[in-house]
Amino acid sequence: MSDDLRFLLALQDLDIMIREVKDKSTSRELENMGFELTGLDELMEARENLISKISTEMVKRYEKLSKVYQMAILPITGEICLGCFGKLPTKFFSTETRKDIITCENCGRILYII
Ligand SMILES: [Zn+2]
Repeated sequence: MSDDLRFLLALQDLDIMIREVKDKSTSRELENMGFELTGLDELMEARENLISKISTEMVKRYEKLSKVYQMAILPITGEICLGCFGKLPTKFFSTETRKDIITCENCGRILYII
């Protein structure tokens, strides 16, 4: 797995956490359970830190996708994109042309083969 991909996945996880903290109903629920919600600044700082490690081009693509989709980056196990359920071209899976990060031609999500 390339560094770009590893950092991108971490960024996506982080964004999900940030979304949850920002979500008012979740926040209230957590506060009622006795959690203090002071972590947002730290999360945003970690986000900045992560972004500085990823190529600008990939960050731009990710930011654009994550505005549209809950999950911008998805693992694939078969020849189907789990975002849009479109079939992926076989060239993605042949050993000569196989890449670490591929793009679904149908929905544009960032995919990686596991
Ligand atoms: Zn797709």
